[in-house]
Amino acid sequence: MGQGLSCASSHEHGLFRAVQLGDLKTVEAMLERDPALLHEATLYDRHSALHIAAANGQIEILSMLLDRSVNPDALNRQKQTPLMLAAMHGKISCVKKLLEAEANILMFDSVHRRTCLHYAAYYGHADCLQAILSAAQSSTVAVSWGYARFVNIRDGRGATPLHLASRQRRPACVHILLGNGALVCASTGGYGCPGSTPLHLAARGGSLDCIRGLLAWGADRVQRDASGRIPYVVALKHNHGACAALLNPSSAEPLVWPTPLKFISELNQEAKALLEQALMEANREREKTILKGAACALTSPSHSDAGVEDNISEASDTELCSICFEQLCTIEVQDCGHQMCAHCTLALCCHNKPNPTTACLTPPVCPFCRSNIARLVVAKMKNHDDSDCNIGDISSSKLRKSRRSQNYSEGSSSFKGLSAMGPFGKMGGRSSGRIAAENEWVDKP
Ligand SMILES: [Zn+2]
Ligand SMILES: [Zn+2]
Repeated sequence: MGQGLSCASSHEHGLFRAVQLGDLKTVEAMLERDPALLHEATLYDRHSALHIAAANGQIEILSMLLDRSVNPDALNRQKQTPLMLAAMHGKISCVKKLLEAEANILMFDSVHRRTCLHYAAYYGHADCLQAILSAAQSSTVAVSWGYARFVNIRDGRGATPLHLASRQRRPACVHILLGNGALVCASTGGYGCPGSTPLHLAARGGSLDCIRGLLAWGADRVQRDASGRIPYVVALKHNHGACAALLNPSSAEPLVWPTPLKFISELNQEAKALLEQALMEANREREKTILKGAACALTSPSHSDAGVEDNISEASDTELCSICFEQLCTIEVQDCGHQMCAHCTLALCCHNKPNPTTACLTPPVCPFCRSNIARLVVAKMKNHDDSDCNIGDISSSKLRKSRRSQNYSEGSSSFKGLSAMGPFGKMGGRSSGRIAAENEWVDKP
């Protein structure tokens, strides 16, 4: 960036050079001799020493300057704060230090009227983005502005941080923003092609991972920009073939993260990560078919089930999900304590996707006992001696085993690919004392 090199006197030049290089001793000595230097700025860009320390990740000098109570929100010529520069350059320790010093996260530069959150998203520094969001949750910004409004803050041309991250191919930032309430279908004012959604911009950028993330968070493939184009057309125009295949409105719909469900919004990090992974895996299964079709229309779209058989033989009997008999139980329903795998949990939740026309959501119930789901947590690996901790788990491993063999004798094909199917459309006519009859809960209004 060349910060601090356009200074008036060699005296100042010396200071800014030392800051840039992280030469703490020299900086301290210079400030000792002439405390007024603390308030100097570079001649043209008007960078303060704090700006230069932040942009260059010189955490020791930055801390020392903040200890001398320099203004953490000093502005340079373009009204950029040190926090913006640290976020732009991915200097996470400086970002954190500035946030601790209560740097204002709601400052707008004069270039594009962007905030530090825009900078972190645009340059793809997920750690800085996360740090700023965490600060926003606990600061007065959340009170005065509202956290959701901050996450969706717009720059001078109507771009939210999600728009910028999508355009710049930053899937990690896209993921964090979506998880924090970024609006997946917001359209820009003048940024990019007017009226672009994050999906349009990801199609323009050509990042398959960004497109995956946006689709899994409910991005609309048929939303049009101001000139009437859907994201599919944008991807085609820019020769992003694989992206276009996923964006083609006639290709299979992806599973969508069930955001509106209360217990989904209250998931702890660990359970959330498990379910998100299941979501991405399920969607990848679909993608294989779509992308294969796009690459070569001749190959058969069916995927091999060979790997699934291997998984079954490796899985311990007692931990196997008794819905799909394929995956391990990793998620526990509370309060009843029933367990199932992440894929089945997700399929259950996605099946009860809210109906946009009624905006009324019937939350799914536990498929085993039909009680309401208060929470989903990560299932603890079961200890066989410890029988009293899990009242819901009434079936012994012996019972499960017999059911499993019964399942195979009936023909296991009806369970194959359940996770990839999403809704339990393939459950087959199976009755079990433990699992509520299929029709009963699939058809539940
Ligand atoms: Zn399962
Ligand atoms: Zn239950």
